[in-house]
Amino acid sequence: MTTRHEHWIDGRSQPPASGAWMPTLDPATREPGDDFAAGGPADVSRAVAASDVAWRGWAARSPAERGAVLHAIADAIETDTDTLMRLERACTGKVPAQLRLEVDMSVAYFRYYAGVVRAAGQGSVIEQGAGVHTYTRYEPYGVVGVITPWNLPLNQACRSLAPALAMGNAVVAKPSEFTSASTLHLARLASRAGLPDGVLNVVTGTGPQAGEALAAHPGVRRLAFTGSVATGRYLAGVAGGRLLPLTLELGGRSPIMVFADADLERAVTAAVAALAANVGQVCSATTRLLVEESVHDEMVDRIVAAVERLRPGVDFGPLITEAQYRRVLDLLAGQPGPVTGGGPYTDGPAARGLYVRPTVYARVEPTARIAREEVFGPVLVTLPFRDEAEALALADDSDYGLVAAVWSGDLARGLRLAERIEAGQVAVNGGPLTVETPFGGYRRSGYGREKGLAALYEYAQLKTVSAALR
Ligand code: NAD
Repeated sequence: MTTRHEHWIDGRSQPPASGAWMPTLDPATREPGDDFAAGGPADVSRAVAASDVAWRGWAARSPAERGAVLHAIADAIETDTDTLMRLERACTGKVPAQLRLEVDMSVAYFRYYAGVVRAAGQGSVIEQGAGVHTYTRYEPYGVVGVITPWNLPLNQACRSLAPALAMGNAVVAKPSEFTSASTLHLARLASRAGLPDGVLNVVTGTGPQAGEALAAHPGVRRLAFTGSVATGRYLAGVAGGRLLPLTLELGGRSPIMVFADADLERAVTAAVAALAANVGQVCSATTRLLVEESVHDEMVDRIVAAVERLRPGVDFGPLITEAQYRRVLDLLAGQPGPVTGGGPYTDGPAARGLYVRPTVYARVEPTARIAREEVFGPVLVTLPFRDEAEALALADDSDYGLVAAVWSGDLARGLRLAERIEAGQVAVNGGPLTVETPFGGYRRSGYGREKGLAALYEYAQLKTVSAALR
């Protein structure tokens, strides 16, 4: 039976002002899923009004008090992991290991910002000599709009919500129309955990209806967006017109660079994981494999053997929507000659859902569409290189600059390249990128930073107070 999910506004469920609902689909089976409130300007206005009332009281609490509520939210997510995994699975088809990872990371965001807000995000005293007392303080913006995509729905919402709430803002969140359930449930859990009414509101709806209304609402004082370059460009225009600060976390086509002296076993595992994790629907997926010529063919053989062991529905899930599925299949059709994969499943249970065969193309032209565009599917391409200079040129031959990985037995070379590659974060020999490490793009991958201490300062504005004492 289909369940209807209302908005979450001012600490309670509220029906859509229009009375309209949006259907969803289980991409693992193509069967209909739950319905969600089709929000628009009237719903957004209600949510912004609730936030506008709520944020001052929330901001007036001490960092320790806000941190305690954030810890309670982390506890609530942890306790309700199974429900969140079930809701997320129903509209994404993700496999259990991926779902658990995303819920665990969501907990980590709240725990991290619950702790650090007590020690960071604070102002300082500026010495100007006797008779003067000057200091700075970080203050919240007030109402922050957070617009998130469908690929890691709960996880990406928490990535922005935790630092924004920690700094004393209220948030109106607009999740993807395909994957709203987990963000709605999070807001319910946050309420039960002690977050005051109106501090976190969730309005569901499409981008043009609910997203545009949120970005345009005069009560919204800051925006955080995670999603496509096209929407990011539109929102940058809106924010520019309104002189609104904005974080843009956009797309990528990230390189993984492997030298002959690398630990090839680990590099193969990393390359396969980039293709398999969330079936390649990850903005930071390093699916452009640059390999030193002398080990290229060996790497490809080992990767293909590992990729062919991946099982649909067990090791990886489906693509998210029919449109995304068609787009990836169209890209594959335009590039003949994969060494493995290259199309949909035509029999077995995977044929019912939006599953694409894990695909590897070897020795593609750097100018090929498949090598340049963000695929957002299980597709790895390889490009051989002869030396460090060529590797660097290939890595940076991209419109994007989100993430890069370097594998080499020569750590100095790894760090030398890390300094030169134009990307927001570089992992050398599998260095971890976690909640503590700032995350964001160079070039068309966006601007502003999420994660780490850097994100706290994104969600606050700095005020200077100077007092003459005589
Ligand atoms: P999308 O831009 O289509 O949608 C993202 C969100 O924006 C959704 O909530 C959508 O409803 C909303 N939206 C769409 N049009 C809008 C408009 N005109 N005004 C306001 N809101 C609007 O992106 P998507 O297809 O959902 O997500 C995939 C993209 O997200 C990929 O390009 C991926 O690289 C990117 N992404 C980036 C990161 C990162 O951290 N850099 C993380 C995940 C995904």
